[in-house]
Amino acid sequence: MRSAPVTIPEYDYLIVGGGAAGLSLAYHLSQEPRLAGKRVLLLEPEAKDQNDRTWSFWADAPSLFDGIVAHEWRRLAFRSPEFERVFELRRHRYKMIRGLDFYRFVRAALAARPGQFTLVQATVEMLENTSQGVQAISSAGTYAARYAFDSRPPHLKPQPQKYRYLLQHFVGWEVETKEDVFDPETQEFMDFRGEQHQEARFLYVLPFSKRRALVEYTLFSAQVLPQSEYEQAMRTYLKQLGVTDFRIEAVEIGSIPMTDHPLPASNGPNIINLGTRAGRAKPSTGYAFQRIQAHSARLVAALAATGAPPPDSTGDQWQFRLFDTLLLDIMQRRGELTRDIFTQLFRRNPVERIFDFLDERTSWKENLQIMNSVTPWPFLRSIGHVLRRRPGQR
Ligand SMILES: Cc1cc2nc3c(=O)[nH]c(=O)nc-3n(C[C@H](O)[C@H](O)[C@H](O)COP(=O)(O)OP(=O)(O)OC[C@H]3O[C@@H](n4cnc5c(N)ncnc54)[C@H](O)[C@@H]3O)c2cc1C
Repeated sequence: MRSAPVTIPEYDYLIVGGGAAGLSLAYHLSQEPRLAGKRVLLLEPEAKDQNDRTWSFWADAPSLFDGIVAHEWRRLAFRSPEFERVFELRRHRYKMIRGLDFYRFVRAALAARPGQFTLVQATVEMLENTSQGVQAISSAGTYAARYAFDSRPPHLKPQPQKYRYLLQHFVGWEVETKEDVFDPETQEFMDFRGEQHQEARFLYVLPFSKRRALVEYTLFSAQVLPQSEYEQAMRTYLKQLGVTDFRIEAVEIGSIPMTDHPLPASNGPNIINLGTRAGRAKPSTGYAFQRIQAHSARLVAALAATGAPPPDSTGDQWQFRLFDTLLLDIMQRRGELTRDIFTQLFRRNPVERIFDFLDERTSWKENLQIMNSVTPWPFLRSIGHVLRRRPGQR
């Protein structure tokens, strides 16, 4: 009797998409000696030769990418009409990596290991589980592998009766001024002093020198604004600093989903989702870079130890998902309260505790301290919405 033909996996791992998550996983794999014999194929349609974004994050431990950090800050400012403080960062540093530096750095590291990594410029049209692993149909051909790691952007079909949908959207200018106006030691984390328009609106500033900074007008809300509104807000901010004469050196535009819509960590037994597709953009803040690094480290540790991805690939904890949902519910229902909640958080907690909480590393005791620092009634109302499975609406 002849058995059916079997597809022999050509690769051990197939990485779909070479943005933040795909390249992070590839780099973490390259740093694990126990996986040096694995063959990895990365499929990415774009050349990744543009500085299409910058990643900022806080960290309290050395990372694989410290060599390409463009700037780091040891002070952080929070500002709202009734409370302003500049925090001295003790355990953490706030850091920034330029997208282009990251793409170049990782691609060069992978190119230095041609026996292990193959990069193909291609769009994946279909990815499916097979009896042997996975198969991808792409614009450059069909490939088979044991496992696939998929970082294509998710296509969500919104269900507003069940879940909450907001965006973190922003326009930023990297400006050069004629006078000294910025403090390159202090990152402006959230400046809520402007009009809120029943939403969460703040300025976010990364000063690189006394005369150069990335200034971003950022919102947590359902709809993006006309471009001119972000620009007007940045002009007003700069004017308040005394700056009317400046040059725009670069522009950054972004829109990151903030939602409690489920974003599964896997798709069948052999396809593991990555990045935004796997819910690595934190629903209540939009920060993703460090969550992507933690996810990559977790996947690589399991692959090296057991030969397979971990059963619970993200390790997310339910209590932090609930906190995210509650905050999203408040933002969707009464966006203007966001400023008060962040003000209370920064007024009543050490910044280390806030960062640990947002990193989902706090103990139950610390979670209670965080909860006790904010006015309870908006949260109680949102707990009601969660229990009734009906998202709050304005
Ligand atoms: C402008 C901007 C600024 C941001 N700033 C920060 C920040 O400061 N800090 C932070 O923590 N987070 C930030 N984020 C959020 C998050 O870190 C980024 O969105 C991050 O790039 C997400 O990683 P990803 O791999 O999921 O998506 P991406 O980096 O977008 O990578 C997805 C890749 O998949 C490829 N792809 C798409 N379709 C296919 C296909 N069919 N086949 C194969 N490949 C495909 C794309 O070309 C892309 O390269 C920012 C996001 C944006 C948009």
